[in-house]
Amino acid sequence: MKILVVGSGGREHALAWKLAQSERIQIVYVAPGNGGTALDPRLRNVALTDPKELAEFVRREHVALTVVGPEAPLAAGIVNVFREQGLKVFGPTAEAAQLESSKDYAKAFMQRHGIPTAAYQTFSDAAAAHAYIDVQGAPIVIKADGLAAGKGVVVAMDLAEAHAAIDMMLSDNRLGDAGARVVVEQFLDGEEASFIVMVDGKNILPLATSQDHKRLQDHDAGPNTGGMGAYSPAPIITPELHARVMREIIIPTVQGMARDGIPYTGFLYAGLMIDAAGTPRTLEFNCRMGDPETQPIMARLKTDLVTVMEHAVNGTLDAVKLEWDRRTALGVVMAAAGYPDAPRKGDVITGIPEETPEAVTFHAGTTLTGNILTANGGRVLCVVGLGDSVKMAQKQAYAVVDRIHFDGAQFRRDIGWRAIRRHG
Ligand code: ATP
Repeated sequence: MKILVVGSGGREHALAWKLAQSERIQIVYVAPGNGGTALDPRLRNVALTDPKELAEFVRREHVALTVVGPEAPLAAGIVNVFREQGLKVFGPTAEAAQLESSKDYAKAFMQRHGIPTAAYQTFSDAAAAHAYIDVQGAPIVIKADGLAAGKGVVVAMDLAEAHAAIDMMLSDNRLGDAGARVVVEQFLDGEEASFIVMVDGKNILPLATSQDHKRLQDHDAGPNTGGMGAYSPAPIITPELHARVMREIIIPTVQGMARDGIPYTGFLYAGLMIDAAGTPRTLEFNCRMGDPETQPIMARLKTDLVTVMEHAVNGTLDAVKLEWDRRTALGVVMAAAGYPDAPRKGDVITGIPEETPEAVTFHAGTTLTGNILTANGGRVLCVVGLGDSVKMAQKQAYAVVDRIHFDGAQFRRDIGWRAIRRHG
């Protein structure tokens, strides 16, 4: 069987890597892929990104099903294009992907269906937004409505910062259309966790729990990034909290979408804030898996992912029971010099060891030219270590990180600290 994975990040490398482990797989295509997917003989890069061209490729090559990784093609309607042509594809339609592509849509949806989230108001007029902020006070959170590649959220600790964010988005249009409308949201305190499930329109299959690290530097200092590391499982998600999140957030979301006439298929990611009393609230929805959460989650998945995907596109996810490696998987992101503001490209990468049962390196922003591997994006690699405890998994991951070299590499030394603090 042939499968196509759309995307080029670490998430897509991990999905393709896992799919390719299936005995039923002949080849996994990755479009456009990266240096890591180019190096793996079971994977083949395809230099296409246009949905119509990809659909044509799928027909020509008799690809059985397609899995879409990133949000941009989903929001642009790649699933609509494939479905119109009768092609099997796992991901939400453009309408369903609005849960991520429009924060105003997501907030109104949550309000309508009683899903716990921060109080908010949406503005397109700067003066009205400024006045609202003055009444609400700080801290307060300013969010661009549209997709802004992680740059659309300002957690303002004082009023000056909040007003500046409104000016940046609504008056100076620095985020273009994505910032033409702005959600102003109540600040929520607590600890964040990622909650990722697969949905086939009605059935829900939760994946293993995970937690990521958004800040660039150790001790959660420095600017927000796409994510500098993640681990699975996340001890903060106890079985009780898991049941509560399913009951109060995930099930009402999937049922709400169906009731609104937009049944959801695809990965669904709820970014949660869990307060000191243990109450979960939804910070955001993503209509895809998290990156880097996917990498440790895939490293732990024992069930054949091809079979899972078949059930997902056929609406029979209720027949699937996932099996997980009992060990902890912990992924450390190695980012390029200058990330996140101005990542440098072209640094030569050396020292990536062969995969072992204890560690695997997933590529993100890498390019293979001849046999030279270079950095070609912000987040370059994600090294995943596996171990019987978070500490052991951390040790395995950093043993590999320390063997890899590229000039200016940035990575954190403390991935997993919250889980280690909890369990020692
Ligand atoms: P991502 O890159 O994860 O998709 P995004 O740009 O869609 O992020 P959000 O996830 O909504 O934006 O917010 C980014 C980060 O800002 C969150 O991970 C969280 O740390 C912080 N944040 C968002 N909303 C709130 C809130 N209401 N209170 C406190 N912090 C918040």
